[in-house]
Amino acid sequence: MGRRHEKSLALSLRTFDYSETSQVVHLYARELGKIHCIAKGSKRRKSAFHGPFDVLCLYEITRLEKEPGALDLLTGAETLKDYRGVRESYARFAAASYVADLVDEFTPEAQPQPELFDALRRTLDRLNEGAPVAQEVFGFEAAFLRELGHFPRTDACGACRKPPSGSDLWFSVRDGGVFCASCSPRDPNRILTRRVVIDALQAFRHGRPFPMAVTAGIADDLRRLLDAHLRYVFDREPKSARFMRQALLAAEGR
Ligand SMILES: [Zn+2]
Repeated sequence: MGRRHEKSLALSLRTFDYSETSQVVHLYARELGKIHCIAKGSKRRKSAFHGPFDVLCLYEITRLEKEPGALDLLTGAETLKDYRGVRESYARFAAASYVADLVDEFTPEAQPQPELFDALRRTLDRLNEGAPVAQEVFGFEAAFLRELGHFPRTDACGACRKPPSGSDLWFSVRDGGVFCASCSPRDPNRILTRRVVIDALQAFRHGRPFPMAVTAGIADDLRRLLDAHLRYVFDREPKSARFMRQALLAAEGR
């Protein structure tokens, strides 16, 4: 035998009770990608895990090297950060749950993507410190779509291939992104949008802060556009998407 023990930083995405004393944990590990693990005895008072796993925490995990067809077995974990600030606010917790669900539901298993891990960790850090919630969600969605190769086209019209012209623009999820006002896409579900919304999307794509404050109107339009795009790419939306939208509106007093 002699299987190796592997260590990795990991963020907990979901936890399930597996038995009276054990849990199944969905983790996003920096060096291992998304893994579904059994933590035997994690609910016992004394265990190698110093207490049960909770969602949305940063751990250093130790995993027994995986054999083909076998379940992933955790042999130890240290809690490095529990993101208490995220748990103190309904909107921040809803946003954090949503970004974790994106990773849990839509990333391939066991494919390390360290940049995506770093983006998720950064987003949780910033939410924990009280950064503006809607912008953090957009920023993470942009990083997520970029890393998975699903970012919509924002810099060229899908018909004339030039930089899109006009202050009103079309957006078609089916046809890959933006179109000039005068180059209307054939897609019957095309969305009429504004240049300022596409500019915001473009800024988030490059990880830049949007130059002006993202107004409620721009945020609403961007939300609608990204919801439609994510639903098209993944055929559905994450479980917590509606919860996240409601919590953000409630936080803004709307
Ligand atoms: Zn055009």
